Amino acid sequence: MFQYPRWGIGLLLLNATAGALTALHPDTPARMLLAASLCALLLLAGIEFAHFRSIKRAYRLAMLAAHDGFWEWDPVSKSLKVGNRLLDILGYKDRHIPDSHAWLKLVHPEDQALYNSAVTQHLKGLSAFFYCEYRVLAVDGQYRWVASRGLAVRDRRGIAYQMVGSITDIDERRRHQEEMEFLAQHDALTGLPNRLLFAEHLQASILSARSSGQRIAVLFIDLDRFKNINDTLGHRAGDQLLQSVTQQLRKDLPPACRLYRQGGDEFIVLIDPVNDGDAAMQIAGRFKDLIATPLLGSESDFFTCASIGISLFPDDASDGESLLRHADTAMYEAKAAGGNTIRSHTPLMNQRVTYRMSLENQLRKALAENRLELYFQPQTSLADNRLVGAEALLRWHNGETLIPTEQFISVAEESGLIIPIGDWVIDRAIAQIAAWRASHGEIPPIAINLSPRQFWRPSVSQRIIATMEKYGLPASALETEVTESVLLDADGSSVEELLKLKAAGIAIALDDFGTGYSSLSYLQHLPVGTLKIDRSFISNLIHDDGSSGSEPMVRAIIAMARSLGFRVIAEGVETVQQRQRLQALECDVMQGYLVSRPLPADEFARKFLEGKAQSPTPAN
Ligand code: C2E
Ligand code: MG
Ligand code: MG
Repeated sequence: MFQYPRWGIGLLLLNATAGALTALHPDTPARMLLAASLCALLLLAGIEFAHFRSIKRAYRLAMLAAHDGFWEWDPVSKSLKVGNRLLDILGYKDRHIPDSHAWLKLVHPEDQALYNSAVTQHLKGLSAFFYCEYRVLAVDGQYRWVASRGLAVRDRRGIAYQMVGSITDIDERRRHQEEMEFLAQHDALTGLPNRLLFAEHLQASILSARSSGQRIAVLFIDLDRFKNINDTLGHRAGDQLLQSVTQQLRKDLPPACRLYRQGGDEFIVLIDPVNDGDAAMQIAGRFKDLIATPLLGSESDFFTCASIGISLFPDDASDGESLLRHADTAMYEAKAAGGNTIRSHTPLMNQRVTYRMSLENQLRKALAENRLELYFQPQTSLADNRLVGAEALLRWHNGETLIPTEQFISVAEESGLIIPIGDWVIDRAIAQIAAWRASHGEIPPIAINLSPRQFWRPSVSQRIIATMEKYGLPASALETEVTESVLLDADGSSVEELLKLKAAGIAIALDDFGTGYSSLSYLQHLPVGTLKIDRSFISNLIHDDGSSGSEPMVRAIIAMARSLGFRVIAEGVETVQQRQRLQALECDVMQGYLVSRPLPADEFARKFLEGKAQSPTPAN
């Protein structure tokens, strides 16, 4: 091994001896002794020096072979000698780097602290050798990554008076490493930082917000009906949409905001710092509007919107994981409110989430164990009380409790469970119709409810038609009920599904009419044959004091529906007065507790089908 310290000690001894020699009288035996030892030391030093030179030469050769640069530094005078290879790596001339001051100027500002500390540590004897990876400015104005290794030569007291070492060009390796790191922390499709980097940044933001007392906000953004685009237009279109949305958001990113892709159609914005909830809401509003701006894709124009959830540090949570979870929860609330909406997290949301999650699990089980049931509610003609149809309504008895249908349907819609549940309803209802027709002859059509989410797959019409065929049923035996949200679907694929149903002869009714936005003239162009006036209008038809409530509205709906050729059903008729008013307004059909509540299949058949089978009323 190359023993710099040994050589250094020799030199020091020589120094000390020479000093003593000049201080003593010429004829003393001590001087003789010292002179002899000086000779011996000189000899030793000579050997060591020759040894050192040859080792240094060998070291230089090894460096050359390894393509490393050689350097020698004097920590006292700061003078620096650098080998040619080192100059080659950086492209400088010999005299460009005369001392360590000049060298330090070339070290990347971000790496200077690290570099200085590595040198100091070693000079102080706190590290066995000096090692540091850092960037140095090359003559072409670019920084290059180098790895420096070195060893200090020390005096007897351990004080370093020289440092010798090498430099290796590690630029390619570091750039490769940086590239790998970038890939691991960024999303390949959009180039946005991914959830790993978000977690890192969030952690750092929380730490600094804790000490500064500032607020930060997390926005959880989820595109509405993205799955729809993926399913109907294909993954390429879906990818394109994600890229366009990213571009749109990136273009105009408000200050203090950083954008990440969480995965799928989910994006996250970290706002650090933010003044308060209002400021976060305002920024979220900007994102919502940007996303809702029509995007021009290369193959088709996309229209999309997003649901956004907001959570604040430290108001909503004190750690990153909870902060993200709360923003996610708030986003779900926004989605449940119909999408294209923003919600800020509230503590109440947590309880709701826990309840809904347990409901979802139990519902999944109930479906698997076939514990769901269909009830049937009669629809009768207002003119002559004839049974003209029935609506199949889902019921779930969870043990002793009957879970309100609207509640579990919304959980099923949020979780996607509505797809298998909807399939079950289609199968069950059609099987029931077939069984009744076998036992009671022709019966009026039975209506099933279809959720907007069932239309997110293009196969719902096919499934219905195939099941009807399987049982050998005519199309007139079934009706479907959809709400306006299905018709307002942006890309029109749901309407296509409805057209397929209509083409097969299956009637379509528009449920809860009056609560949405559709104008009657708009509906004229859609494959809908029946309007079901929402229960809220019927219950307000006549006020307790006898004055008319929603009657003018109901009258207008019925009149217009007639002129456009729609059949009208009044939902939720509970009183005789309501029935009389509806008869006077020439409404076609009623459904409500006045005639019957929804009943289990057997009971419905006993009460309404036995001996009363009618020929079906044409719906459209
Ligand atoms: P909807 O399709 O509008 O069904 C009518 C609702 O009004 C039913 O509530 C029915 O029980 C109720 N109703 C009928 N007559 C009266 C009345 O005189 N007074 C009052 N107060 N209510 C009356 P239900 O069964 O709780 O269902 C609620 C909603 O859940 C349905 O509204 C429908 O949107 C949805 N739903 C029910 N079954 C299914 C299903 O199989 N699939 C889907 N996707 N949704 C379903
Ligand atoms: Mg309905
Ligand atoms: Mg309804």
